[in-house]
This record gives sequence, C-alpha cells and structure tokens, in this order.
Amino acid sequence: MSYNVNSEGFYGEFGGAYIPEILYKCVENLRQNYLKYIDSEDFRNEYMTLLRDYVGRPSPLYYAKRLSERYGAKIYLKREDLNHTGAHKINNTVGQILLARRMGKTRIIAETGAGQHGVATATVCALMNMECVVYMGKTDVERQRINVEKMKMLGAEVRPVLSGNMTLKDATNEAIRDWCCHPDTTFYIIGSTVGPHPYPDMVARLQSVISSEIREQLQEKIGRDYPDYLMACVGGGSNAAGTIYHYLDDERVKIVLAEAGGLGIDSGQTAATIQRGTLGILHGSRTLVMQTADGQIVEPYSISAGLDYPGIGPIHANLASCGRARVLAVDDAEALAAAYELTRLEGIIPALESAHALGALPKMKFNPDDVVVLTVSGRGDKDIETYLKHIND
Ligand SMILES: *Cc1c(COP(=O)(O)O)cnc(C)c1O
Repeated sequence: MSYNVNSEGFYGEFGGAYIPEILYKCVENLRQNYLKYIDSEDFRNEYMTLLRDYVGRPSPLYYAKRLSERYGAKIYLKREDLNHTGAHKINNTVGQILLARRMGKTRIIAETGAGQHGVATATVCALMNMECVVYMGKTDVERQRINVEKMKMLGAEVRPVLSGNMTLKDATNEAIRDWCCHPDTTFYIIGSTVGPHPYPDMVARLQSVISSEIREQLQEKIGRDYPDYLMACVGGGSNAAGTIYHYLDDERVKIVLAEAGGLGIDSGQTAATIQRGTLGILHGSRTLVMQTADGQIVEPYSISAGLDYPGIGPIHANLASCGRARVLAVDDAEALAAAYELTRLEGIIPALESAHALGALPKMKFNPDDVVVLTVSGRGDKDIETYLKHIND
C-alpha cells in the first residue's frame, strides 16, 4: 500500500476531481499532461535553475542548538523562510508558471487569502511577463494592505471579492468562476495541495524539493538520510506535503502535522479542519470540510491568515485517517508563545503559520537521540503587527 496518490487521483477515500462540466476539458488536459511536462528534462532544467538562482535554493537545514536543548532532541529547522518572497509558496508558483507556458496559456489567475500566494504568483508573472489576475476577499484586501500593494507593484490586477464572508473561500469560488469563462487561455495557479486532481499531486511534487533536499542534507550532516520525526504546519497542506513527500511510505519516519486550533478546537473559533471537519466536497476535492449538518461551510478562524482554510489537502486527510500522521491542534496563544521562543532562542522570527509547527514541540515526548526536522515555512516580517499587539499576552 502507498500513501501517495493513485491513478484516479485519490488518496484512500479522499481527493478526486469534482468539477463543473465546463472545466472538464481543461482539467482533463492538465491531468493527461502534467507529469509529461514536469518530468521532462527541459522542465527540470529550467525549474531547478530558477529554484537555485532566483528562489535561493537549497534552503539551509539548520541545527537549532538551543531549541534542541529546550526540547531534549536533535532539532533541525528547514529554512523555507529564507526563500525569495519569504516562504515556500514560490517553489509552487515557479513550477506552475513554467507548466502554464508549456501548455500555451497566456493568462494567469490565482486566489489568495492573506496575500502570500497572490504575491508569489504576481512575482513569477512579472518574471515571465504574463497577465495576472488575483482574486481576494474584500475583508482580506483591507486586512492585508501591504500584500495588495506588492501585487499591484508587480503588475497584477487584484480583484476584490464581495460575496460570502469576503475571505479565502469566496476568492477561490470567484477564481473558479473566472476559469470556467476562460478555460482555453487561462491557467489557474492554485496555492496549496487542494482543488481537483491533479492539483494536490502537482503541488506536492513541486514542493517535494523540500524533502529531497532534507534527504541530502541529513546524509551530509548526520550520515543517515532520514529523520525520526518530520513536523510541519498545515493550512491546505503544501509545505507539509513537500516536507514529507519522499518519506511518505517510509514508516521509520513519524509525521506530525500541526493545524490551527484558533481559540481552541471546541470553541467554535478554530481552523482545526482535520479534527473538526467531516467528509464533504470543497473546491473540487472530496476531503474533510468544516461544515454545518446541511453542508454549508463554517468560516474557520485562526490568528494566522495562512491557516484558516475550511478544507484540507486530501493527502493529509488520508494520512490522518490511516493513523500515518499524528495531528495536533495548536492554539493562537501557543503559536504566539512558540514564535517568541524561537526568536529569543535562535534569532529567527517565524511566520505565524510556522509558529504553529513550533507550538507542537511542547506536546511531544522525544528521546535525546531523536532527530527532528521541522519546517519553518515562512518568515515573520508580515506578522510583526500581530506579534506586537500580543507581546504581553
Ligand atoms: C500559506 C502559508 C502556509 C499554509 O499553506 P500550506 O499550503 O499549508 O503550506 C504556511 N506557512 C506560510 C508561511 C504560508 O505563507
């Protein structure tokens, strides 16, 4: 048995492609061609060159000495925060835009919540001179002004979305609507391991550069190419999928996923989708969804704008339901404390999302020899205001 995707696009009972008929042709076209393109030598060369010279890869694997002493294990941080644009998301957008060009598309659309994926998409569109439209809920446009200005400066058009709660789910709906109107010219760059097959698999493969580097870097540093634990935060699940990709079926490696507990998983103010979700279909994928008894989406809440998606990548829904991954909810207050701790112990200010992975450390019981690799998915520059607001909590 494998925990990877099967030929129909499912991870166990999760995944698939539940899409309107009008998108069938273009999703099918992508499904039939994505592997041919991304496995080709020409694509690999261009992709790896951009990751090296533009993104700044490989990202370091850093032995965090003081953090290790605190938690009684050998903790290594995978430093995605050092990438161009400040997070792992650029690994995916660089890959998808190369694919879009090879498929002859002329126009790029994307959805964004906090604006991080929007900025990563607008960045590669500037690089490749492609037209770029980013859908963003009006609430988020107001909350994330700096990212909106960055996208505009990069040449993207930001379209505020006025439906629903005017946040990420609504922006995604609007992007899908746009895609339905322009399926021949437009490539939809999805920002996480979500959406209809082949997106979750495609995004996981484009992020898998993270685990392939971890393998090489561990071999070099400890003479063994696998850790005892891999830890990452999950919003839609792309940095986690990239972190675990090459170890999915290696049961020597334990997987720990940190989802956003918000004010507590029983508070009604949470984004702990894996623990609070039920089986449903969201944005083309069968997965765990935060929903009411009659299937309406329940708006998720987290202090971290990048983790409040009401669904979860099907790969992670399956890992959790099989018991292959351990899922921990980390609340707002625990994440804030973890961010301050990393800052003071190691001089690294993490993104609030990444702070959720760090906030899972106190919930673990390690042996002193355990090797732990924890992915710091992004840097905290964008979160400084939130950190300052809560400095005395
Ligand atoms: C967007 C984001 C996340 C959450 O997305 P995943 O697809 O779950 O990785 C996590 N960390 C950072 C820094 C982000 O920008």
